[in-house]
Amino acid sequence: MNLMQRLALVCLVLAAAAQCGVLSPAQQARKTRTLVRAGHVLDVKTGKVADAQTIVVAGDSIQSIGPTASVQAQPGDTIMDLGSLTVLPGLIDVHTHLTMVPDFDPYRELTSTDAKEAINGVVNARATLLAGFTSVRNVGAGGYTDVDLRDAINSGQIEGPHMMVSGPAIGITGGHCDENLLPVQYHLVGDGVADGIAAVQQKVRQNIKYGADLIKICATGGVLSKGDDPQASQYTLEEMQAIVADAHRLGRKVAAHAHGAQGILWATEAGVDSIEHGSYIDDASIAAMKKRGTYLVPTLYLEDWQIENGHLPAFYHQKMVSVSAVAKGNIKRAIEAGVKVALGTDAAVYPHGLNAHELDVYVNQIGMTPIAAIQAATINAADLMGWSAKTGTLEAGKWADMIAVEKNPLEDVRVLEDVKFVMKAGVIYKGAEKKTP
Ligand SMILES: [Zn+2]
Repeated sequence: MNLMQRLALVCLVLAAAAQCGVLSPAQQARKTRTLVRAGHVLDVKTGKVADAQTIVVAGDSIQSIGPTASVQAQPGDTIMDLGSLTVLPGLIDVHTHLTMVPDFDPYRELTSTDAKEAINGVVNARATLLAGFTSVRNVGAGGYTDVDLRDAINSGQIEGPHMMVSGPAIGITGGHCDENLLPVQYHLVGDGVADGIAAVQQKVRQNIKYGADLIKICATGGVLSKGDDPQASQYTLEEMQAIVADAHRLGRKVAAHAHGAQGILWATEAGVDSIEHGSYIDDASIAAMKKRGTYLVPTLYLEDWQIENGHLPAFYHQKMVSVSAVAKGNIKRAIEAGVKVALGTDAAVYPHGLNAHELDVYVNQIGMTPIAAIQAATINAADLMGWSAKTGTLEAGKWADMIAVEKNPLEDVRVLEDVKFVMKAGVIYKGAEKKTP
């Protein structure tokens, strides 16, 4: 074997072709750059806007950000001239149900199938991405349809946001996460039903086995379920402690659906990472969440949308009215007290793609500042997901996830409801024409 042959063998063995002067297709892709020329860039950490900036994107990541005057185009670069638009990080929704649709007719619900959920997911993932949401947590889906949806997006087969998925939400018999529409002779049980320590541990392990990135549980009753009370606790403290211990040991965070104050408190004391909804949050649960650094994920725009447009069966509608009467006031108090917030929407209770309306409620109904609302949808949401190194801000080394809007969203947060440009992981899904120098 001569030297060249030996070298070729070393290249093969190391599978480090680049070192031998041969680039793989992925490495080639990383070499081509896209220069995003932005009229303005909003720094979501500081709330400062910088004019005339260029974001250099290489492959799926941000390589650098700096004044346009200092970034020269090189041969082979693609230039995206966004004119006077304002660029900010892609938004994040930590509470969606992409495989579900806003139709709560009981017969429609009972005749849903995993195949229908999967088809819904393909449509809703695209609508969510085009609305400017480049990452989501999917917290509850039937038949692990969310796992396959995530994988199909990651493989490039279909368009959608980066996803963390929970699989079926775990809950008690007869609770919000069970299926309670039929009498006993039909033996209908929700996918995620588990009672008692051993059973909840088995369910956590099963969800992880089949691809869950996080664990979703129902700590209290809910609105869109039959026969249960949003204020009543469902899992016991001990059951939730067992769930959290197993999930955390296996590297998964836990999101707890909780409306009632006692359920919020118990879930927080059990160590869950986020409280979803939090409608009846009180002083004791506020104090516990602050002490432990637990995130609150309010889902408030759905109330406005449902009251205006919803056609809920009476047994759901009455609960929606009762919860809506108190939730905004309680959430406002919790935020004023300093509880950390990540943006969630519960999209599927209203049409997917309207997710950014949640920011309008935070700012114009419960008194958050625009920058705090945007941080809830970027930095905080990324932190809750454990994705701070990947997304949430526009910084070198993170995914090239960004959106552009016509005005400074700090002056009018509703401009985020009409996103003009969407890039996810370096790929443009919506926006201006490309130019090459
Ligand atoms: Zn939900």
